[in-house]
Amino acid sequence: MPLTVIVLGSSAGGGLPQWNCNCPQCAATRAGDPMVPPRSQSSIAVSADGERWLLCNASPDVRTQLAHTPALHPRALRHSPIAAVALTNADIDHATGLLILREGGAPPVYCTPRVERALTVGLRVLPALAAYGEVTVRPLDPRSDEPVFVRDRAGDDIGVRLKAFTVASKPPPYMLPHLTADEAADLHAGDTVGFELCAADGAAPLVYVPGVKDLDEPLRARLSAAGMVLIDGTFFTDDELVATGASKKTSRMMGHAPLTGDGGLLAFLKTVTGPRVALVHINNSNPVLRSDSPARWEIEAGGVAVAGDGDVFVVG
Ligand SMILES: [Zn+2]
Repeated sequence: MPLTVIVLGSSAGGGLPQWNCNCPQCAATRAGDPMVPPRSQSSIAVSADGERWLLCNASPDVRTQLAHTPALHPRALRHSPIAAVALTNADIDHATGLLILREGGAPPVYCTPRVERALTVGLRVLPALAAYGEVTVRPLDPRSDEPVFVRDRAGDDIGVRLKAFTVASKPPPYMLPHLTADEAADLHAGDTVGFELCAADGAAPLVYVPGVKDLDEPLRARLSAAGMVLIDGTFFTDDELVATGASKKTSRMMGHAPLTGDGGLLAFLKTVTGPRVALVHINNSNPVLRSDSPARWEIEAGGVAVAGDGDVFVVG
């Protein structure tokens, strides 16, 4: 049985357009330019049966994303096809959508202990949700090679298998006051993970990595064995925000390998053979967002697609 994947949001934090940004992409989107359609913040949904769905990351745009996706509409007076939520990290663009899912009590949440801690003492999303219903957190151990059987609120297996794996990453900025220096320096502590997802009888999995800083051998092996890869397309160049004066932080300082340049994602992907690859978590500053740009041609010439909101893929 294949896995169905819906890209609910293909943008990084801020979305396209971002509220306070007038970069060429944001400006073109506001002007209705068909070459730069709007994008919502980072999330996908996966299902093995088309009835019960695992939401991977809950973005602040989740309400609109669900409203625009018939497969995720309620089937009864009080109902949702969202059986559970899994988080790749505790970033604001990936986790605050849990607050939007509070009515009736949020679905069970799969995450690493570090992400649970961030959502408990940092963002305090989980304590806030507890006022609206029981909050069930189910731990993901990124060092384990055993897949988790994803279960709904009632504990029924929804037929989706989930394996989390660590990728080098930094804790969210809001957590720094809560971490020791050693804790903050541990880039493999589980602050950000990638997911391998497949159906119960699935073979080649979907690998979903919306944030990754270091492109290493274990990741290469994992991607090579995948049926499909949805991966971090945040920035085109390392100094993308620095060059325009929008920020002092480079792509790598923000925890994302840039697409181009030495050690960039495109060069890395040339050494990965097999899977279909599409970019997700694309920042509004990234010129690939314009569909007739040289940057987009460069990506597509490398065999890599740019995922868009509402894209559906069948994997496995
Ligand atoms: Zn912008």
